[in-house]
Amino acid sequence: MRRILVVEDEDALCTLLEYNLEAADFAPVIVRDGDEALMRLREEEFDLAILDWMLPGTSGIEICRQIRARPETRALPVIMLTARGEESDRVRGLDTGADDYVVKPFSIGELLARIRALLRRGGHGEDDALRAGDITLDAATRRVRRGEREIHLGPTEFRLLETLMKRPGRVYSREQLLDRVWGQDVYVEARTVDVHVGRLRKALNRTGETDPLRTVRAAGYAFDETYG
Ligand code: CA
Repeated sequence: MRRILVVEDEDALCTLLEYNLEAADFAPVIVRDGDEALMRLREEEFDLAILDWMLPGTSGIEICRQIRARPETRALPVIMLTARGEESDRVRGLDTGADDYVVKPFSIGELLARIRALLRRGGHGEDDALRAGDITLDAATRRVRRGEREIHLGPTEFRLLETLMKRPGRVYSREQLLDRVWGQDVYVEARTVDVHVGRLRKALNRTGETDPLRTVRAAGYAFDETYG
């Protein structure tokens, strides 16, 4: 599920965006304050950010500058929300590094179209196949292969493998996997992750084959960066 950071201080707009983004199968993370947004951007991974221009704490413009300044977030697609009038003219005149601007009030359909367009364009390689050794995961066709063998995975196991394969070596805690694979606000127990990792391993590995998944004690799971 694509995680979208929404930084906006108007309550009504937050509610509207959260509801509609969830309905469109995104995982929105709503933040009402610019400083908190910077903190979350340092600690978490997002697929796209929607920034309001005027915010308490750090402004949307400054958040965008910092996103572009850090190598980890440089390629993150950013949509800036601006009020009609002077602000939107000024925001266009500034080289903020935003990929797109949406002027308030906007239709949710228009915003969703811009989000989808940016995600399609985005340099995150989400539409390309992920490869590690003899394992290939193709998000576009939702097929997984190991060597000549087709691996049949349930939707949860597929998203688990996709999440882990995207960043080989990175250790994800059970909570981080719950957020990314099951989505925020879905209340399942942490040990559910263990059950699904078990299923994934069973589907992926035949007797004698190397297990590409690492269990990191007291920390979580990772796709072994030395695999293949
Ligand atoms: Ca505002």
